[in-house]
Amino acid sequence: MRNEAVDGQDSMEAVMRQTRAYLEYLRDNGEEFIPRAEVLKNEESGRVQRSDLISFREEVLPCVRCSHLAKARKHVVFGAGNPHASLVFVGEAPGAEEDRQGLPFVGDAGQLLTKIIQAMGLKREDVFICNVLKCRPPGNRNPLPEEIQNCEPYLIRQLEIIHPRVICALGNFAAQTLLRTDRSISALRGSFHDYHGIKVMPTYHPAYLLRNPKDKIKVWQDMQLIMTELGLK
Ligand code: SF4
Repeated sequence: MRNEAVDGQDSMEAVMRQTRAYLEYLRDNGEEFIPRAEVLKNEESGRVQRSDLISFREEVLPCVRCSHLAKARKHVVFGAGNPHASLVFVGEAPGAEEDRQGLPFVGDAGQLLTKIIQAMGLKREDVFICNVLKCRPPGNRNPLPEEIQNCEPYLIRQLEIIHPRVICALGNFAAQTLLRTDRSISALRGSFHDYHGIKVMPTYHPAYLLRNPKDKIKVWQDMQLIMTELGLK
């Protein structure tokens, strides 16, 4: 009587044989089989070390350039995700929950962003998520011009290190800061713009979508353009 280990090995070998045959079939029929992880890998990631982003984070964490924000914060919210991401989401500033956890987009708006990312066939770990401002403005007020001026160099450096193929700017502040414009998000969304050779897709902030769910369809249209650009559909 054959034992279970031998049976298990046989079935594993059968699966591998079938998989190999399927890949050869795809190749012979002109299909390029590219695992999702490879599609998402930044083409220039070879020159980027994960440690670059980690050591830069260590530089940013003690920042007190905006003394009033530094005094009130619980955490500097540097950003989180894949240092080799092809897609970076940039929002406005941390909210209360983000400040509490030290992570970006973990409140209600963050949960909606997670659903959007999943609807694109991705996971949060596949992308990088950050904000223009790394500290929470009190009472979730809008960032002040001098705060953006203080903090923007950190965003610029993050984008230099990650060098994604696409940046999705969430809301007016992110889009206007990256694109050096005062045009509204409604006017900017729906097409790609340029940020130092990187494509930028402005779209509505998830917090806006929670108040205006009818505009979710427009965000999904923007995400479809990003998916096409990244070869995800
Ligand atoms: S918002 Fe940015 S520049 Fe201002 S204290 Fe925080 S990390 Fe520093």
